[in-house]
Amino acid sequence: MEAEEAWYQCQRCTNCCKWEGDVVLAEGEVEKIAEYLKIPLYDFVRHYTRLRENRQGLSLIDKEGSDECIMLDGVDCRLQEVKPYQCTGFPNRWNFENWRESCEAIPGPRPEGA
Ligand code: SF4
Ligand code: SF4
Repeated sequence: MEAEEAWYQCQRCTNCCKWEGDVVLAEGEVEKIAEYLKIPLYDFVRHYTRLRENRQGLSLIDKEGSDECIMLDGVDCRLQEVKPYQCTGFPNRWNFENWRESCEAIPGPRPEGA
C-alpha cells in the first residue's frame, strides 16, 4: 500500500459509496450512528442495516434496486460526522490492488493528526 509515502485527498466522486458489497459497521458504530440520526437503536438496525455477507456483523443497506449506499444523498453522506471506519479509512488506511482506477482521490498534504 502506498499510504506510507503519500496521503490521498478524497474528491467526493462517490464511487466508493456505490460499490457492490458491504459497508461494514464496526463495533460501536451502530450505536454511534443511531444516536447521531436520533433514531432508536432497534429501529436503526431494523431499517438501515442487514447481516454482512460473511454473517460476522452488520452492514448498511443499499438503496432499493442499486448498489448505492442508503446514506448517500447526492454527493453527500448523511453520516458525515460519524461515517463508518470503512468509509473514512479508504483509501489511506486500507485499499486494494488497482484502487486508483476507481477512486479519484489525489495526493495531497497529510492532515494533522492523520
Ligand atoms: S472513491 Fe475515492 S475520491 Fe471517490 S468518494 Fe471514495 S474516497 Fe473519495
Ligand atoms: S456511509 Fe456515507 S461514506 Fe460510507 S458508503 Fe455510505 S454514503 Fe458513502
